[in-house]
Amino acid sequence: MIIVLKNDVKELELTNFTEYIKNKYNVGVHISHGHNSTVVGLVGDTSSVDEDSIGAQSIVQSVKRVQEPYKKANRKFHPDNTVITLKNGLKIGDGSITVIAGPCSVESEEQVVEVAQAVKNSGAKILRGGAFKPRTSPYAFQGMGADGLELLEKANNETGLPVISEIMAASQLPLFNDVDIIQVGARNMQNFELLKFLGKVNKPILLKRGLANTIEELLMSAEYIMASGNENVILCERGIRTFETSMRNTLDISAVPMLKRLSHLPVFIDPSHASGITWMVEPLSMAAVAAGADGLIIEVHNNPSAALCDGAQSLTPSQFESVMINIKKIASALDKNV
Ligand code: PEP
Ligand code: MN
Repeated sequence: MIIVLKNDVKELELTNFTEYIKNKYNVGVHISHGHNSTVVGLVGDTSSVDEDSIGAQSIVQSVKRVQEPYKKANRKFHPDNTVITLKNGLKIGDGSITVIAGPCSVESEEQVVEVAQAVKNSGAKILRGGAFKPRTSPYAFQGMGADGLELLEKANNETGLPVISEIMAASQLPLFNDVDIIQVGARNMQNFELLKFLGKVNKPILLKRGLANTIEELLMSAEYIMASGNENVILCERGIRTFETSMRNTLDISAVPMLKRLSHLPVFIDPSHASGITWMVEPLSMAAVAAGADGLIIEVHNNPSAALCDGAQSLTPSQFESVMINIKKIASALDKNV
């Protein structure tokens, strides 16, 4: 971090200031006196340094951060990719492509078990299914709640597929005993109390990027979970709000190489929420694999036109089969397994 001081700073003020910073943030300081201004460089781990508080000191002209404000999620401090291993031994982020598929919401035993079997047959490794749904309208279907999680567990018993489901509040955690990966949805990406709580939970977390959040904000949210003790975080780009209206969201495909460069955490793409359109899921999935994503999370329904949530973006099992065939072609060009 570079701090430029105002040009009339007295020697005593400078000494008091640098002593204050060294003691408060446990960093070193490097002072250089120019013709017109004095610059103080902070040396060491500056992730806990509060730029605003420094900028508010009377002798400070400007502050510039030159190091990322996240540490645990930062590839600089952890060069090797994080590989997450699930209970059944499945590895995420090991260089292969992991596909998660299933309905937006669990609706019935028949629905979730049928979809689970179909996606498994096509090569999905994890089953998704929402039991607590963050809907824009309070009058829309809110999910089956605890019953939905029980049905997911049944689908797991039938197929052996590990399951992922979204949590919306810390109080729901006791219901997630049999869930293998906990999803934090886009709308909760900056629910910091929930993130801190999940940092104490011994399960991997799939953290979705917020509708209007920057890559740095996503990484800071991952940092919340990791700083509280849980380092098994999967990052998921699921489309962001832009001026474009022809799709539900705009898939920020650039987020994949950028996140892979900045962080060691596995990066997934959700082409279903990114586009909101069934036919677009396949090309976006192929693009995600080509861009270096570690996995995909895709919505599949046995009868999309009757789905209680997100039918317009849900694939039929045979459409999903086609996606799997095509992403395998891209993956094999990159020497990766799906
Ligand atoms: C979902 O996965 O069903 C979901 C609600 O996703 P998002 O939080 O990305 O909107
Ligand atoms: Mn959905």
